Amino acid sequence: MSETVSNTKQALINQEKKATILFLILFYIFTWGYDFYDHYIMREMKDYGQVGLIEGSLGIIPYLIHLGLLFVALYCFKKDKPHLIKYIYIIVYIVVVMINDVMIFLSSNDINYNYQSGNIIEVLLVLFSPIFVNKTYFWIVSLGMVFKYAFAGMVTGQMENVLTPIMLIIILAMVAYLLLTRTISYITAIKSAYEELQKSERLAVVGEMAAGVAHEIKNPLASVKGLLELQQTDKSSAGRYTPIILDEVNRIDTIVNDLMILGKPKSQNFALENVRNILDYVLELLKPLAAKNNINLITKVEGDLPNIYCDETKIKQVFINLLKNAIEAMEKGGFITVAANLFKNNIVIEIIDQGGGIPKEKLPKVGEPFYTTKEAGTGLGLMVSFKIIQEHEGQISIDSEVDSGTSVTVVLPAN
Ligand code: ADP
Ligand code: MG
Repeated sequence: MSETVSNTKQALINQEKKATILFLILFYIFTWGYDFYDHYIMREMKDYGQVGLIEGSLGIIPYLIHLGLLFVALYCFKKDKPHLIKYIYIIVYIVVVMINDVMIFLSSNDINYNYQSGNIIEVLLVLFSPIFVNKTYFWIVSLGMVFKYAFAGMVTGQMENVLTPIMLIIILAMVAYLLLTRTISYITAIKSAYEELQKSERLAVVGEMAAGVAHEIKNPLASVKGLLELQQTDKSSAGRYTPIILDEVNRIDTIVNDLMILGKPKSQNFALENVRNILDYVLELLKPLAAKNNINLITKVEGDLPNIYCDETKIKQVFINLLKNAIEAMEKGGFITVAANLFKNNIVIEIIDQGGGIPKEKLPKVGEPFYTTKEAGTGLGLMVSFKIIQEHEGQISIDSEVDSGTSVTVVLPAN
């Protein structure tokens, strides 16, 4: 569950990063591009006299500040906080433009000073504000721009010059707001549909599990009950059924233990462990069972392997499950190879048997709860193993060919 949550969070951060990169490109194209066009191309063509930076303005300082902002943006990206970038840019941009306007106004001795309005950049920033699908950002940009013009109008006493851009910004803000609310309601609808789907899927899984558990436990319980009743009526049989009863009770115990592993939260008993020791332990444990089935266990461990950070008991459980499956698949005896290698910071462990294999069409079913082809199987071993390996941030894969054998590969990150 926690993994899904962090995945969702990362996906959102990635979306924010994409929108921010788009924002940065648009920001520099709009601001620098417009200024270049305005200061050099337009004034040159219209013969306005002064070409270049406006007299009395902050000169190249705003551009240096914009360049400095790039480093701030990079830092925010690195810290996985891309959502801050757009606010920093907009606020710094507005403040710098306001100071610039005041400076130009104060330094102009011209009584006929005319406040220059109608900068297309602000309008475009408002229009593009829905790219972040964020209402706070929308309001900051729209109100910030309106405030900027109102402020300029008040300082210069030329409200008539700023009314047109303010109107333009309000109209475009209305368009942007429409786009924004449509997008948000669309996303909300998709999200709730998805959540509904997940809920019903979860309920279906719970129902399936409950039915499976009931079925699996009902059989051994029924036989225990029958045998105990028999013992009660026929006192002379006392003790004769005890081994069978014990077997059946053990079976219930195994099922319940496996199910408990599935239900438990991630284990806290993690420590650095030696893979070779774990494999040796498991091989020693299953040697008698293998010998009984005429199976030779071969180990191939290359040199020294680094340790893995794991819950030793659980990893042992995985290899016991896998090796038992391999032994149970080889009715005619043969060889089982257990190989462990280091590959790119991962420890790769393979268990290769010469058993009956798994038909291709059955491969997806393997590892599903209660899927078993064995008379006394529980169909929980692989499911539990998958879950344990997943908790260890590892991978498990099965390769199989009917009549020639199966190879199960476990990949665990090395330390
Ligand atoms: P169980 O062993 O109780 O049946 P598992 O989850 O361990 O449950 O395995 C599920 C099924 O997958 C087995 O019943 C068997 O059909 C198949 N299987 C697993 N491992 C192997 C193997 N090494 N060779 C052939 N079949 C296998
Ligand atoms: Mg098994």
